[in-house]
Amino acid sequence: MSLADRLTQLKQEIPKDVVLVAVSKTKPAALVQEAYDAGQRVFGENKVQELVDKWEVLPKDIEWHLIGHLQTNKVKFIAPFVSLIHSVDSFKLLQEINKQGEKNNRIIPCLLQFHIAQEETKFGFSFEEVEELLQNKEFIEMNHVSITGLMGMASFVENQEQIQDEFRNLHNYFAIIKSNYFKYNPDFKVISMGMSGDYKLAIDEGSTMIRVGSSLFGSR
Ligand SMILES: *Cc1c(COP(=O)(O)O)cnc(C)c1O
Repeated sequence: MSLADRLTQLKQEIPKDVVLVAVSKTKPAALVQEAYDAGQRVFGENKVQELVDKWEVLPKDIEWHLIGHLQTNKVKFIAPFVSLIHSVDSFKLLQEINKQGEKNNRIIPCLLQFHIAQEETKFGFSFEEVEELLQNKEFIEMNHVSITGLMGMASFVENQEQIQDEFRNLHNYFAIIKSNYFKYNPDFKVISMGMSGDYKLAIDEGSTMIRVGSSLFGSR
């Protein structure tokens, strides 16, 4: 099956209001162009250098999402053009994104990454840490970031019930945070969860944005 066919099939499989982020990390720009020609406009990368390299050579109406861990000293390279940063996992990082947003005269959309997996290695906040952040006076006064939702990665396990529980937790956090901090803010609406192996489960648990790489572009 061609990439265009796989895209069409995936789009048909998921609800219309679920955003598909095509994760093109490690794949050449030519393959991104092929997906673009088939109509895909939203792409995700996990490394800053690769994101910048592809942004430079590919059509400028692509929405580029940074989905991987972001180091503070690299924010400046993507701040001029990035459409959404999924992986905000510290207050320090958010401060830097706000600073670079100001320099570029824009408001940078961000998701707060939650640690929902059992695994130690995944980055992300706990619920308590997010509450602390959202109540922080300095955060409230940040004018160049916009928190548009939450992101999480489930454990890399076979156990479907565990994955389902982790997605359900993220959805519950979203509901609580929405009602406590963003009730009248329509921009806070994204739950980014689900990858090639678990996007169906994620959608069943309320995902509004899935990040799919290998099942579109092939294994890495
Ligand atoms: C690589 C990656 C994905 C896509 O993973 P696939 O299993 O290839 O679909 C999604 N989210 C993040 C954060 C990633 O790093």
